[in-house]
Amino acid sequence: MVDAQDLGSCGSNPVEVRILSRAPMEILFLGTSSGWPLPRLGCKCEICSSQDPKDTRLRPSLLVNRNILLDASPDIYTEIKTHNVDPTKITHIILTHAHDDHIFGLYDLSHTYNGPKITLISSSGVLSKARRLVGISMRAFDTLEAKPFEKIGLSKDSYAWLIPVEHGSEEAYAIKLKAPKPIVYAPEFRRIIPSSRKEMGDIEVAILDGSSKTSYGQAKGHETIEEGLRFGKDVNAKRVLFTNIGHKTDTHGKLEASVKEHGGDKFGIAFDGLELKV
Ligand SMILES: [Zn+2]
Ligand SMILES: [Zn+2]
Repeated sequence: MVDAQDLGSCGSNPVEVRILSRAPMEILFLGTSSGWPLPRLGCKCEICSSQDPKDTRLRPSLLVNRNILLDASPDIYTEIKTHNVDPTKITHIILTHAHDDHIFGLYDLSHTYNGPKITLISSSGVLSKARRLVGISMRAFDTLEAKPFEKIGLSKDSYAWLIPVEHGSEEAYAIKLKAPKPIVYAPEFRRIIPSSRKEMGDIEVAILDGSSKTSYGQAKGHETIEEGLRFGKDVNAKRVLFTNIGHKTDTHGKLEASVKEHGGDKFGIAFDGLELKV
């Protein structure tokens, strides 16, 4: 587990000052790859043969305050064990969309013992696709259908909203979460539609799609880190991190240097085990 102070990307970030003053909001990156883990099976490219542990990535899930899980990666079992997460504390799972790499962890999570019944939240379309793909395991969860932009209460001081994004032909959302600081989690999108942009102002951390660095290797339905840098400069976020890191990008070290060079200190690349306190 890595604390904010360990980050080269934090530097003199004001985030650190607040760690000392009040109970912080915790953001833990459980997995930060896209589609398949890195290194890819059998591959010997520069990323896949890197000795830097930050280049070993499982599929994307984010845990907030140890109880709110954003997306359910197929690697969730390993992620929970690796980062000493207490699965009985998870109360809510919010889904950005129902592609395999974001929902197949529901199968493992459906067999969590001694915890509360987890509330699974997304739109009616995303939840019904998840029901089709995950099947009977979905019965382990209470489901809560949310409409886009509708404020969903999670606890006394935690709220979430689904913010529509374009992601190919797939129904997909960014998740805005206030727990209590506002963050936006948008691991996969091609475009933030104009009506959604107003929800992106004044956020503590924006977490964006990093599946390709440029148009090289860009998959349909995804923005590039290059575009994310422009978007991140436009929105009023104190910090912008890329997750969902793809295979046609670069090593963590080179990517981190590149986003800092082109975007400045508020930009960074997430990695598995990165824990922020904001
Ligand atoms: Zn490779
Ligand atoms: Zn997707």
